[in-house]
Amino acid sequence: MSETTSEKHVFQAEIQQLLDLVVHSLYTDKEIFLRELISNASDAMEKLRHVEATEKNIHQPTLPLEIHITTDEEAKTLTISDHGIGMSHDELVKNLGTIAHSGTKAFLKTVKEGGAAPGSMIGQFGVGFYSAFMVADKVGVYSRSWHADSPELLWVSDGRSGYEIEEASGIDRGSKLVLHLKEDAAEYATESRVRHLIETYSNFVGFPILLNGTRVNEVEALWLKNKSEIGDEQYKAFYQFACKAWDEPAYRLHFSADAPITINSLVFAPSENPERMGFSKAEPAVALYSRKVLIDPSPKDLLPDWMRFMKGVVDSADIPLNISRETMQDSALIRKLGSVISKRVIRMFEKEAEADPEKYRGFYRKFDRYFKEGVATDYANRESLAKLLRFESSLTDAGSVCGFTDYASRMKDGQDVIYYLVGAGREQIESSPYLEAFKARGLEVIYFTDAVDEYVVEALGAFDGKKLVSIRHGGVELEDHAAEGESLTPEQTISLCEFLKTELGDRVTSVSSGRRLVDHPVIALVPADGMSPQMRQMMKAVDENFKDEVKVELEINPRHPLVRKLAEAKDANPELAKLVSRQLLDNALISAGLLEDARDTISRMNTLMEKAMGH
Ligand code: ADP
Repeated sequence: MSETTSEKHVFQAEIQQLLDLVVHSLYTDKEIFLRELISNASDAMEKLRHVEATEKNIHQPTLPLEIHITTDEEAKTLTISDHGIGMSHDELVKNLGTIAHSGTKAFLKTVKEGGAAPGSMIGQFGVGFYSAFMVADKVGVYSRSWHADSPELLWVSDGRSGYEIEEASGIDRGSKLVLHLKEDAAEYATESRVRHLIETYSNFVGFPILLNGTRVNEVEALWLKNKSEIGDEQYKAFYQFACKAWDEPAYRLHFSADAPITINSLVFAPSENPERMGFSKAEPAVALYSRKVLIDPSPKDLLPDWMRFMKGVVDSADIPLNISRETMQDSALIRKLGSVISKRVIRMFEKEAEADPEKYRGFYRKFDRYFKEGVATDYANRESLAKLLRFESSLTDAGSVCGFTDYASRMKDGQDVIYYLVGAGREQIESSPYLEAFKARGLEVIYFTDAVDEYVVEALGAFDGKKLVSIRHGGVELEDHAAEGESLTPEQTISLCEFLKTELGDRVTSVSSGRRLVDHPVIALVPADGMSPQMRQMMKAVDENFKDEVKVELEINPRHPLVRKLAEAKDANPELAKLVSRQLLDNALISAGLLEDARDTISRMNTLMEKAMGH
C-alpha cells in the first residue's frame, strides 16, 4: 500500500451533491456537527477494542482511548482527535471520498429530480463526517491506521470539488480532525461554547472527552450497564443529574431488548408533579439516544403525550444518528420503539401497584391526570391504562380506593355491566337518590369525582368487555327487589303516572313507576345520550348563550307516603296535587343537579308552605 506523496482526488459526484446539500440546505442546527464527529471518534475507538480482541500487532497499543478536543480562538480552529482504528490511504479514499450507502445515492437522485424536500428525508442517511463543512471551509484529517505498517497521512479538503492526501509525520494511531472554521462559525473555537455542546449532546459517550485537557463528560451511560451492577444511590444520582430532576424518583424501569428492536432504556417516574403545582405543560423528557449519542433530548413523537411526566433515556442502536424531527414523525422504527417502551412502562406501573398499593395510591394522587389523559387519548394502550385508574366506590371506605380489576372481581352473579356515578364528591354521591336501589341490591357503584372523569369514562366505554353504565341514566335494568311497606295498586300507579305526565307536560319525556327507589319519592333520570350536569356546566362556562332544555324521565316510588298521598290528592284536591307534582319534579331536578332556574320553585314552595299552615 502506499502512496506517500501528495496527490489530488476529485470527490465522487454524489459526494459533491451531498456536500452542497449539507452546507447549504440541510441542517438548521449547525452545532450538531460536533456530535457527529465525536460519535465517529467514539466508533473508531469502539472498533479498536474489537480489533484488540483478535489482533496482536497493534500500533501503539498503550495509547489511551480518549477523545481530545482543543480550541484555538486565535487560529479559529477546532481539533478533535482519537486513538481509534485510524484510516489507511485506501480507507481515507473510500470512507471520506465516496458514498457507501446505496440509500444515500437514491436519496440524492430523488432530490436532483426535484422530488421530496431534502430536510424531511436526509435524516435517514449518514452524512456525519461531511457536516464538518457546515462550519469549516477547510478540514484536515491526520490519520494513522492501527496496522503496524501503515503510513502517517493527511487528508485535506475545502469541501468543494476534491481533496488531497499527503504524507505526514509525528502522528499517533487514530485520527485527528482539524477544522478551520468559517467566519460565521468562529464561536466553535470558544471553549465555553464547545463545552456546552459536549455536555448537551455527548455527555454519555463511553470514552472520556477532554476539552483543552480537562475532562468534560462525567456521567456513565448507566442504561447500558447491567442492573445488578447499579445501586439505588447511583440510579438516583443519574436521575437527578442526567434528567435534571430535583426530586426522588418514585419508580424506575431499566430494561433492554434485542428484538424486534435493540433497546437499552432507563426511565423514571418522578415523585413530584410540576404540572400539578401550577407549572405549564411539561415537554417530553425521555431523551432519545443512539449508541450513547444524543439524538433528541425531547422527542415529541417517541412516546405518547400523556407520558410526558416520565424522564430518562431510550437508546437504540437501530436509530440512525442523523434522523431528523420530520423523519421521526413518520418513522415506523420510532413508532415501534415508542410502542414497546410505553407498554413496558404501563406494565411496570401495574406490577408496582400490585406490589405496594399504598405507595401507588400516593403516586396516583399526584399523577392521576396523566393516566386519565392516556385513557382518553392513547387508543393503543387504553385497556391496559384503565387498569391503572383508581377510585372510591360504594364498597370502599371513604378515602380508600380500588381499581377496575377489583371491581370486576367483586361483580355479582349475573351482573354484566359496571355501574358508576359522576358527582362532586363522596358525600354528594352517597346522598343522591340514584344510589339507593343499587345499595339495596348490594351492587357496587364506582364514584367518579374528578372533573375530567366523565370524559375518561366516555372514552373508555367498557372495561374488559363490561360496559360502563351511569346509574343516572334511564333504562338501567335492575333485578326485582322485594320492596317493603304499603304500596299503590298497579291501577292507582298508572293513573298517577298519567296525571303527572299531563301536569308536567314537556318537561318530562315519561313518567313511570320504578323499582329503583327506596327512601325517595321520585327520581329524575337523564337519557343515556343526554348531557350530564357536569357537561352542562362546562358548556355554560364556555358559551353564555348555551341553552338546553333538560328533559328527564321521572320515576316514582309507589311505596313512598308522599306519592301515596299525592295519588289521593289528585282526585280530592287537584289544585294542591298540581302544585305538589311540580314541586316534586323540581326537587328531583335539584337532586340531580339539573335545575337551572329556581325562581318558580321558590314561589311555589312559599305557596305550599302557606297551604300547609292552613291557608
Ligand atoms: P458514518 O459514520 O455514518 O459511516 P461518516 O460520513 O460520518 O458516516 O463517516 C464515513 C466513514 O469514515 C465512517 O464510516 C468511518 O469508516 C470513517 N471515519 C470517520 N471518522 C473516523 C475516525 N475518527 N476514525 C476512523 N474512521 C473514521
